[in-house]
Amino acid sequence: MASSTHSENVPMKQILRELRGRQGAMLKLLGEFVRCESPSHVKSAVDECAAMVAREWQRRGAKVRILRQGQRGNHVRAENWDGVGRASGQIMVLGHTDTVYPLGTLAKMPFRVGQGRAWGPGTFDMKGGIVLALFAVDALRALGVQPTKRLVFLWTSDEEIGSESSRRTIEQEARRSDAVLVLEPSFGREGRLKTQRKGVGGAEIIATGRSAHAGIDPEKGVNAVHELALQIARLMEMNDPRRGITVQTTVVSGGSITNVVPEHARAMVDIRYARAADIPRINRCLHALRPILKGARVEVRGGAARPPLERTAAVSKLFGVAQSLMQEMGLPIGEASTGGGSDGSFTAALGVPTLDGLGAVGDGAHSPREHVVISKLRERAALIAGLLATL
Ligand SMILES: [Zn+2]
Repeated sequence: MASSTHSENVPMKQILRELRGRQGAMLKLLGEFVRCESPSHVKSAVDECAAMVAREWQRRGAKVRILRQGQRGNHVRAENWDGVGRASGQIMVLGHTDTVYPLGTLAKMPFRVGQGRAWGPGTFDMKGGIVLALFAVDALRALGVQPTKRLVFLWTSDEEIGSESSRRTIEQEARRSDAVLVLEPSFGREGRLKTQRKGVGGAEIIATGRSAHAGIDPEKGVNAVHELALQIARLMEMNDPRRGITVQTTVVSGGSITNVVPEHARAMVDIRYARAADIPRINRCLHALRPILKGARVEVRGGAARPPLERTAAVSKLFGVAQSLMQEMGLPIGEASTGGGSDGSFTAALGVPTLDGLGAVGDGAHSPREHVVISKLRERAALIAGLLATL
């Protein structure tokens, strides 16, 4: 990855120019993808979207395989296209076809273009990213630029619900790759790349006591809600913002009616961490929780799970390549860290240099305001094209 020498050979300005005439086509394709609703839990819907994405890769001469799944939606693997060299090495491009929006969302939140933006469910997270990759390839093909490494594009169906069915495939491809480019939404108005992501975990704390009449014989009871409250106070002590560790109790429930000492109480806990090295300690702390009230029981399930994406030297080098490609187009680009997880965390955890947030510029992911900025589509597609040809 000799960034300075290689990137000089990639005609970034020409790529950008090539994409100028393609903005309308990019929007049209984005509209088609968005109108194919694809909530993670509805297999038939995600399958349809996957088939649509597969067709687009086939049209570009890529070798496409549909990775069929039993319960979850199918994944799509596209490799190379006509004329790509097959020298040693592999670059992996990673994204997902599923969205968080239930079927029927389009009725209230249709795909539309206005105020220089394209709005709709999944425009930003991350059907826009899939469109960018396709047009990056179009630009390279039109200009006859031939990347030397094998290029593998993997579009999974279950990123929004934890990637259970795709994780193994993601990791398998990543192990064969020299770098992973993740087309998740970029960060902020300026479209910064994500060179650092926190790891994410979840835990459940279940407190069990003994019910009794709250007025007549409270001493015979053990209050599960009180027990849980004491445990939550301990959880709060696990927060260490300077180390990038946050522990948030997010959902609590307990008790049945007002005059009964509650027998059951339960808390859901969101856990985030910047360093993989902290995972064992966090889990030890969690599972070391012991009952405080006499007669109470406490059970802990789950813990820290998805690894963080750490800003290693290799990650910052990859960012440097992206930065120099943008510079050649006369455009700035910054980097950011985020508390949200992505599939890039799995590849980064294997030690494979991973650059995340390479997708569209926009805002409002997972909300009615979700959109991408149209004027930035071209430069983002050019950046991806540059990376595919340079790395
Ligand atoms: Zn996403």
